[in-house]
Order: sequence, then C-alpha cells, then structure tokens
Amino acid sequence: MIYDIAVIGAGLVGLASARELTRRHPELKLAVLDKEPAIARHQSGHNSGVIHSGIYYETGSLKARLCVAGAREMYAYCEEHALPVERCGKLIVAAAGSELPRLEALYARGVANGVDGLEVIGPDAIREIEPHCQGVKAIWAPNTGITDYARVAASYADDLRAGGGEVLTGHGVEKIGQRPDALVLTTPAGEVQARRLLACAGLHSDRVARLTGGSRLPKVVPFRGDYWVLRRDRRDLARNLIYPVPDPAFPFLGVHFTRRVSDGAVWAGPNAVLTSGWATSPSRSASAASGAWPAATGGSA
Ligand SMILES: Cc1cc2nc3c(=O)[nH]c(=O)nc-3n(C[C@H](O)[C@H](O)[C@H](O)COP(=O)(O)OP(=O)(O)OC[C@H]3O[C@@H](n4cnc5c(N)ncnc54)[C@H](O)[C@@H]3O)c2cc1C
Repeated sequence: MIYDIAVIGAGLVGLASARELTRRHPELKLAVLDKEPAIARHQSGHNSGVIHSGIYYETGSLKARLCVAGAREMYAYCEEHALPVERCGKLIVAAAGSELPRLEALYARGVANGVDGLEVIGPDAIREIEPHCQGVKAIWAPNTGITDYARVAASYADDLRAGGGEVLTGHGVEKIGQRPDALVLTTPAGEVQARRLLACAGLHSDRVARLTGGSRLPKVVPFRGDYWVLRRDRRDLARNLIYPVPDPAFPFLGVHFTRRVSDGAVWAGPNAVLTSGWATSPSRSASAASGAWPAATGGSA
C-alpha cells in the first residue's frame, strides 16, 4: 500500500498538521510515523503547558500572527473537546528598575500584536494577583492560560484516526529512498511507502533533512530544559504564572513559575543547558526556587 502522505513526527506539529490535512482532504491516505513507542514523547509532552498570548514575537511576523490566532484556537479546541484548560493570566515582572525599558517595549509589542487585555501594573496590583511576588512593575496578561499538551496531542491523534489517518509508533525513519512511484521510508518496523512526505521531526529536523539528501546546514543546537517543582506545602508561593522580563542575550523566556493544569503542582523552569556533545558550559542555568525538587526534562537532542 502507498500512502498519499507520510508525516514524520507525532509531536504537536506533526499531529496537528496531519489532522488538518485529513479534515481538508478526507480522501487522503495518511500516516504519521514516530520513532518512539508512543506519541508526544519529546517537547510536546514535556513543556510548560502554557498557552502563550503572542506578546513576545516581532510585530507583523508570522510567529506573532500565528501565536495570537493559535491561542484563540487552542482555547476553543480544548473547550470543545473537554480538555483541561484555564485562562489564568500571567505576570511578566520587572524585578529591578533597569528592566523597565525592556518591560515597556514588550508591552508596546504585545499591544501592536493585537493581544487583548494587557496592562502595566505597579507593586500593589502585582501583590493582589500574586501575594508572594515583588516587582517594580509588571505586565498583566489575562489571556495567557494553561493546558495539558500531552492530552491535546492525544486528542489530535484521536481526531486523526477518526478521519481515517494512522499513527505508526515505533517507526523511526532511518533512510529515505525514492522509487518511480513513491518515496520509501525505511524503519525498524519495515518499509513505509508514500507519495509525499511532511517532516515534523522537532529537534531531529536537521537529521531528517539530511536523510533526503539535504545540506548539513542549518544544524539544530540542542538545549535541554530542566524543571523543579515546589513542595506541596509551598505551592501558594505562585498562584498562576510568573515570568521574568526576557534577557535579550538569550533566545529563551527565562525561568518561570507555572501552575500545572492537571494536578495543581507548581513548576519552576526550564533552564537551558546545552546537551552533551556540544560545548561544555551551560549557557544559562536556573536559579531554582528554595524548597524545590527536580521535576522533569523538556526538549530532546
Ligand atoms: C522546555 C520547553 C518548554 C516549552 N514550553 C512551552 C509552553 O509552555 N507553551 C508552548 O506553546 N510551547 C512550549 N514549548 C515549545 C513546544 O513544546 C514545541 O514548540 C512543540 O512541542 C514542538 O512540537 P514538535 O512536534 O515540533 O516537536 P516534538 O514534540 O519534539 O516532536 C517531534 C517528534 O518527531 C519524532 N521524530 C524525530 N525524528 C524522527 C524520525 N527519524 N523518525 C520518526 N520520528 C521522529 C520524535 O520522536 C518526536 O516525537 C516548550 C519547549 C520546551 C523545550
């Protein structure tokens, strides 16, 4: 059998793309292949669980537009499918006066991106929202929320199967060849043939590109993110989401506190550590909150 489309990667991007393809073109024979024994085993099942509102990205960029529209669609999808979701809001806090110009620039960018409800607030309002948080000023983003992205991925996979698509776990693509009528994907579970290929391999995107004969560059530089979790009796230290003002020297949002929608646990993280095989010095490490335990690792190499 020859599939019309094979998608490599059963993370959120691969599953969402496959689901949308079967919705728009129900006649397609489609399969999503993943090397792991289950879906969403990498970033998609180990992230902070935040529905970002679209504040951070450059105004007019595709990322900014997709983030604002995507947040709206994610809330609607979770509500329609009875998935856990809360529009709990988030604070981005300037801890020192020196951070204020960056905080104000971020606020202006969020407004320009069309993010609803943003406000710049002072220390008293910060304490009303988060009693244990101190800051000079903060952005209050009421439309930021939390969900469980592993559950979202499972729901996308259900939709996909209901639309006639297949999810083939344990199918790591090791080789991509071409016959006159089809591409041939070699996996440990056997060959899969498809007329077209969509690669959504996350941090292995560069490796999959090379399997097609693509260039060695660009190359993914893999970072690992560790989280710590607050002790149960100190969960009240952060009611919802508390973020720092991002440091422009690093391409990360900074270590933040996130309440988990599934069990109410409060995570602190992620840090960002270059994985082994790359440079030995971590680019930035988390200052883990006191009384915290190691929790989980997001990202993959
Ligand atoms: C620490 C951290 C925290 C984050 N927090 C948030 C957040 O709060 N909110 C948010 O919106 N985003 C967050 N993100 C980003 C978000 O998690 C990612 O953008 C998203 O999960 C990417 O999905 P993906 O499908 O591209 O990648 P992945 O989830 O990594 O999926 C790629 C899949 O491809 C498979 N694969 C790779 N190579 C092959 C192969 N050769 N053959 C078969 N299968 C293969 C892998 O097994 C994997 O399942 C966070 C990311 C990290 C790292």
